[in-house]
This record gives sequence, C-alpha cells and structure tokens, in this order.
Amino acid sequence: MENTVSQSPERSFVDRHVGPDASDTDRMLAVIGVADLEELAAAAVPASILDGSTDGIAEGLDALPPPVDEHRALAELAELASRNTVSTSMIGLGYYDTLTPPVLVRNILESPAWYTAYTPYQPEISQGRLEALLNFQTMVSDLTGMDIANSSMLDEATAAAEAMTLLRRANKSKSARLVVDSDLFPQTKAVLATRAEPLGIELVEADLADGLPDGEFYGVLAQYPGASGRILDLTGVITQAHERGALVAVGADLLALTLLTSPGEQGADACFGTSQRFGVPMGFGGPHAGYLAVHSAHARQLPGRLVGVSVDADGNPAYRLALQTREQHIRREKATSNICTAQVLLAVVAAMYASYHGADGLTAIARRVAGRASSIGTGLTAMGVDVVHEHFFDTVVAHVPGRAADVVAKAKSEHRIDLRLIDDDHVGISCDETTTAQTVSDVLGAFGGGGDEQLSSQPAIAADMQRSSEFLTHPAFTRYRTETSMLRYLRALSDKDIALDRSMIPLGSCTMKLNATAEMEPITWPGFNRLHPFAPLTDVPGMMSLIDDLEKWLVAVTGYDSVSLQPNAGSQGEYAGLLAIREYHRSRGDDERTICLIPSSAHGTNAASAVMAGMKVVVVSCRENGDVDVDDLRNKVETHRDTLAAIMITYPSTHGVYEHEIADICAAVHDAGGQVYVDGANLNALVGVARPGRFGGDVSHLNLHKTFCIPHGGGGPGVGPIGVREHLAPFLPGHPTVPGLGSAGAVSAAPYGSASILPITWAYIRMMGATGLRRATLTAIASANYIARRLDEYFPVLYTGDRAMVAHECILDLRPMTKKTGVTVDDVAKRLADYGFHAPTMSFPVSGTLMVEPTESESLEEIDAFCDAMIAIKGEIDRVGSGEWPVDDNPLRGAPHTAHALVAEEWAHPYSREIAAYPLGTTRPKVWPSVRRIDGVHGDRNLICSCPPIEAFA
Ligand SMILES: *Cc1c(COP(=O)(O)O)cnc(C)c1O
Repeated sequence: MENTVSQSPERSFVDRHVGPDASDTDRMLAVIGVADLEELAAAAVPASILDGSTDGIAEGLDALPPPVDEHRALAELAELASRNTVSTSMIGLGYYDTLTPPVLVRNILESPAWYTAYTPYQPEISQGRLEALLNFQTMVSDLTGMDIANSSMLDEATAAAEAMTLLRRANKSKSARLVVDSDLFPQTKAVLATRAEPLGIELVEADLADGLPDGEFYGVLAQYPGASGRILDLTGVITQAHERGALVAVGADLLALTLLTSPGEQGADACFGTSQRFGVPMGFGGPHAGYLAVHSAHARQLPGRLVGVSVDADGNPAYRLALQTREQHIRREKATSNICTAQVLLAVVAAMYASYHGADGLTAIARRVAGRASSIGTGLTAMGVDVVHEHFFDTVVAHVPGRAADVVAKAKSEHRIDLRLIDDDHVGISCDETTTAQTVSDVLGAFGGGGDEQLSSQPAIAADMQRSSEFLTHPAFTRYRTETSMLRYLRALSDKDIALDRSMIPLGSCTMKLNATAEMEPITWPGFNRLHPFAPLTDVPGMMSLIDDLEKWLVAVTGYDSVSLQPNAGSQGEYAGLLAIREYHRSRGDDERTICLIPSSAHGTNAASAVMAGMKVVVVSCRENGDVDVDDLRNKVETHRDTLAAIMITYPSTHGVYEHEIADICAAVHDAGGQVYVDGANLNALVGVARPGRFGGDVSHLNLHKTFCIPHGGGGPGVGPIGVREHLAPFLPGHPTVPGLGSAGAVSAAPYGSASILPITWAYIRMMGATGLRRATLTAIASANYIARRLDEYFPVLYTGDRAMVAHECILDLRPMTKKTGVTVDDVAKRLADYGFHAPTMSFPVSGTLMVEPTESESLEEIDAFCDAMIAIKGEIDRVGSGEWPVDDNPLRGAPHTAHALVAEEWAHPYSREIAAYPLGTTRPKVWPSVRRIDGVHGDRNLICSCPPIEAFA
C-alpha cells in the first residue's frame, strides 16, 4: 500500500494527477470490498496476465526512469528543444512557416476550455466548438469553390487518399485506375501508393500539362499549385476527364486560392489539402487540419465528421454533427472510411485565423507571399539563373545544372535557410508569410547574387488564372477583426461548452483524464513546433532523442519489441498494424490469409480499417455476459483455418471487462496461423498492470490522446502509435524522406506523424514513473468499480467479470427503465447537462446504455457528485414511471433547460423551474446550455453545412 499511494505531505506530480488521495482511495476500496489497490488488481485482473510488482514497479517497467517533478521535466524538455535548430524553412511541399496570432495561441492552443473538450456528440453543450467547426467548413468550401466541406481530415496525404476512395465510390465506372498528377507532393504519392494497393486501385502517374493518359480510369488527382510551384489551368483536364467518365479531385493550397481561380470554378468534383499555413505551426509534421470538400452531388460520400445546422425545441437554430447515425465508422465494414478522431483543435485555429484576417487580410498575406516568391524569381532571372516556371504562387524552382547541392549548402551555412534539393540540377524555394525582404536577398546570395538584382514584387500569376469570385463574406469572417472582438468571441464560444475545465467527462472508451499544464506547455515552444517535417535530421537531435525515449518507454509499457509513432490517430494505427500483418503473411507466401475476425462488440473503426487493409471481416458473436463467445470463435477459426489473417480484439473489452479467456483466444488464433491485433484504446486499464505484447498480442495501437494525456481538442488531434512483436517489426510504416524508418509504405504525410504533441506524452511518463503509472491504472479501476457499486441498484451494471468486477469503465443498462417508463437514454444524457455534467458515452457499444469511465484523475468528491446526480435522475424517472409526470412533459424530456426558457412569462410544465434548473440546489456551479434539445432528423432532412445567414438568428 505504501508503495503505490504516497503519504508525503509534499505533493508529487503523481499526487496531482491522481484525483483520489489515500483516504479517498481507502473509502472506495471499502465499498468494493478489498483492502488495498494490489488486492484490487488481483481481484479484477486475470492472474494469467497480471504483472507482479516490486516496490510498486511492475515487471518490465524498470526500463522507465524514476519520476521527476514538473519543473525538472520541463527543464529536460527545454534542453531537448534547445538542441533543435530552428532554421528558416523554405522546403515547402505542403508545410509552411506561419505567424499564429497571439490571441489564438493563448485563447485556443493554450486554453483548456478548447483543448480539453471532447468530440461534440452532445451538441447542446458543444455549440461553441460546433460553431467554430462550421466556420472551418464554410472557409474551406468558400475558398475551394466547393459546396460542402467536412470538419477536418488528419493531414493532406490521408485526405488525398480519402479523395481517391471517395471518387471511386461516387463514380459508377468499372475502372480501378486513378490518374495521379506527377506534380503531387511526394509524401502524398507515398500515402496514396500505400492505400491504393490493398484496395486493388492502380495508380497511373501523368504530367497533366500533357493532357490525360490513354485508357480507362475512374478519377484524376491533381495538385494546385503543383509541388514544383507550377499553376496549371485545370479546366481543360477536368472537362476531358468528365467526358471520359472520370471524376477529378484537386489538392489545393488554401492561401493560394485567395488569388487563384478556385478548383470549383474549374469544374472539380472534390478538393483536398491542409489548412496548416492558416496559423498552425509546422510542428515537425503535425498536427494540423487536413480538409476534404465536395460538390453537393457527393455530400453523402464525405468521410469524417460534418457539422450541420438544425433547430432546437424552441425552433432556434442550433448546430450538431450531421448524418451522425450514419457516421461512417459506425457502419463498420460498409464504412466509407475509418477516420474517427480528426483534427478539431487545429481546424478551430485555422478557422479563427481566417476570421481574424478576413478575406482582405488573407488576400494581402497571399499577395505578400507571392510577391516575395516573384522577387526571388525575377532576381534569379536577372542573375541569369533559369527559373523553370513562368507562373507560380509561392514556390520557385531554379535550374542550376550540377550546382543544386552547393546552393542548398550555401543557403544553410551562410543564412540558416533550408531550401529544397530536388535533384542535382534543381532547387526549390517556397515562401511563406514569415519570408522577409532580407530572406529574399539571402536566398539570392546563396545562388551567387550580389544584391543589385532587379526585383519585382508583382505576383507571378497569369491574368486568366486570377480569382474574381468573392469568399468569406459571412459575418463570421468580418466581425472579429480586432483583438478585443476576437478575444470575446473565443470566450463566448467556449463558455457554451462543457470541457474538462468545468466538469468530469465520464465518456467510456475515451479516457478523458487530466491534461496537465506542464505536459501542454512545450507544444508552443518553437524548438518543437517550428520545425519542418523534412528538415535535415542533423537539425533535430533533440526531437529525435525525445522520439527515441518515447519509443523505448512505450515498448516497456506494452511489452512489444518496436514502436512506430507515425499513425496520427487510433484508426490510422489500426490500419498500419493490419498492414503489417498483411505484409507479414505475404512475405511468407501466405497471400490467401485475408480473413479478419472481429467480435460484434468492437469499435466500428476496427472493421473499417480491416476493409481498407484488404481484409474480409468475419464477425464473432458475444455471449450473454459480454465476453467473446469462445465456441463461436473456435468454429470460425476452424472454418477459415487456411485463410485466417488476424483477430482484432479490444482488451479489456469495449464492454469494460477483463476477459479471462484472453490467453485461449490468442492461442486459438495463433494455432491456426493467424495474428492477434489487440486494440489498445483501453490501455488505461492495463498500463503498469499487464502488457498486451506479453499476453498474446502481435500488434496493438495505443491512443496517446486517451491513455497518455494528449488532450482530445474537441475531436482531435490524436496520436495512434503501434507496438509490434519482433516478427512484425520489418513491416512498420516507412516514409520517402527518412530512409530506414520502416520498410512498409507511409500511412501519414509526415515521418513521425503529429510529432509536436509527443512532448505531452513524454512529460506524462517522465513525471509519473513506473510506480505512478501503476497507481493511476489501479485507481482508475477502483473508481470505475466504485461507481458500478454505487449505481448498480439504480441502473444495473450490464457486464461484470469474475468476482463482479469491471475494468476501468462500466456500462449502465437503461433499457429496462426505458421499457417501463418511456424515459430514454437520450433524456438522461440531456438531463445530466442541467445537473452540470457531460453525459457518459451513449449507446456504444450497446444501444440504450450509458458507458461510464471516470479515469484516475477525478476526485472522489466529483465522482460522488456524478453518482448523486444519476441517483437524483433515477428519482425523477420514478416520478414519470408512477404517472406523476407525463412521459412527454417532465424535466427529463424537457432537458436541457436554457436560462431563456426558464424566464419565459409562461411556464406550463408540471415541474417547477427550480427543479428544471437547480435540481440539487446551488452547490454545483451552474452550466447553462445555450440551446434546448436539438432536432437531429430535421437537420439531416435539410442538410446545411456552412454558416447560415445572420438573419436566421434574429
Ligand atoms: C477511440 C477508439 C478507437 C479509435 O481511435 P481514434 O483515435 O478515434 O481513431 C478505436 N478503438 C477503440 C476501442 C476506441 O475507443
């Protein structure tokens, strides 16, 4: 006991991270009926997988360094950051330095009201971030000239891959060929190649300046402007493609589109790209928000999340996730994509950058960027250096036969500028909003210029390519141009939402734990976030050292042999892990092993990822008690013995239980030659207690944005690294810019994915140490079991394991109550908002239930307050059940209640205003929902996915 719960009066980081103190923990353990956390571990976790501990340090975790306090961890991180060289980056290729307005840094990136929020599944208490996302969608559709945009993709390359499959779904053509512009960014080509192969899509590379190649194809992917800076008028190509039955998606630079005719106006069917240069630092690769936009004909093919406008119970406009019930990954193997966590926080930054600058401000920035590039172009020409393209936006390619490496080296050594070495004869120079007149003269100096060259700062854009259509005319992009108005806008929006800074968010499967400030601080340091992902590795030793530490620590925690940090969400980790399994089988000549067994309780991303990896999904049923039906599993293994590729199993299960037969399940699959994929999203129940790499897994993804403290950001960013056993290590993701990284294809645009948020996880592990991690996990298990014991008599806990224990979360069954009283799980979720709480996960993985996950960070006081609220709600349900309140008019059905609804002259309900707003008195700070219950069906019937005119709010 002394080993896992510190009694020192001076609080360590662990004592700050873990909510319940020693006496609270004892109180919870007494309710559960065990003496201490170690006895709890022995009672809850199957003995076959439980790692023993010595002095609180679990087996294998002695590889972690002893914990340090916040200040020491920050000092170590500062030292790592200082070892990186922040050069002037002119490498381009989709990553550009940018000036984030300080008002956005402090009030979004550094504001827990924004970064600790969850995906807006409860729209009534998420109107702030939904509005910000609607602004993002409007911004993207305006600039691209498309009808409808989603609320972010993971990066440009994966957005291109989603465009590749979207065009195929949207096109009835039988062809499996896709024409790919040779001027696409190299990392985009690499990710497309990875994604195309398992799906049987054939990529045909072509220079679109020469027109379209012969033969049939279903689509074309073009880049605008191209990687070489070239601006190609795509109108002809698009018309030709349409005539030949193909659809066209264009990768477009949003800043360039303020000056260039939009792809929509040229007839494109879809657009993809990134919003990184709208105020989101390069971050050594990420995170930043990719985008995907389409013509309205393809709206229902859009993957990812889409914010739409609907109305609330009072008829007022209100935002929500549109088509939510059809959300792609819920459709499992029929899904359009596996994307779940996206890049919401960064989409909010980009949208606000556009609001702050407005159309004229963005245009002015673009003109300045284009002017610098043009100055470099004319300067080079004046020096007699051949500039390859006459027209360009921000990127100049210089032809310097045999001298390219020398020029690049000179720019670096004399001016600390990184240029792009294209080949022996060509150098690429990309300008951005930080490029100054001095930079221009330094660049020319590197080519041997003397500073007396003729410079023109007129953008080098052909007259017939210049944009004439308007964009960003909505008040969202005209009203917040001063710092005062932007500050208040951001505050007003975030005040509408419940994030972790106001209440616990007991979302099962999502692990909404503390995102400590010390963990967050480094993400805005230039030494981490101002690095180009393709910067020379010699410039980033601090970053590489951090990555190396993190890989080693995650190896220790998971029991695997190697880790890749490249996947930038859990879904992408699943995909990368399944690809590793696929390649492993193929390397052994087992090409026919394509069956993937997935239990019926699995997260929808599992099936969607399996299909993307070229596998066929076979569903394994679950028993009455929630466990995988091992008999059904054995039958399916037998049936598919020769074609079995893998099983994907979540552990502990999405039912919140440690299955005791996990070892048998793994053995059965291994005996048949299959591989075991352990979905590690629930690792918060395992860290420091059991290691998937040691109890039968061959590969797992971890969600660093769940277990390892990266905040959810309202629906992203995330990091989904995978750990693999030794035999799969050769099949980890690779990348065209980092030879030797891995030998499989790239799954993200950047070699280390969303690298700039890795310091968060590094800091967490550094400050927790092995003992802290075990204590956190066991406390999370204790808290979940405590809640299960307290609430079971009111809302029966659906599944428990041996000795009536749950793992780190529990499912409350509301179905019997709904049957008896007509009160639904929705009513309870919305009513919790009146009590000041965010609802638990609703109807996943079982419809009509709530899944509660407290995590270790919530204090007993907060946990008790939540339980008290749930018990009070049960009392209200009983009053409906007894007939005292009608089922269609009671505080649950009326929830959530806005202040406005309560002050209305007329109050014709059978319950009082006081019960509506302050059911438990005024002890808990009141959170006023800004809208009433939102009508989802109305929103889907009348799909509106960009900012409604301001009159709608009159
Ligand atoms: C969250 C989750 C995922 C998907 O992770 P993302 O980062 O959202 O893509 C997969 N499986 C389970 C069990 C999860 O809870």
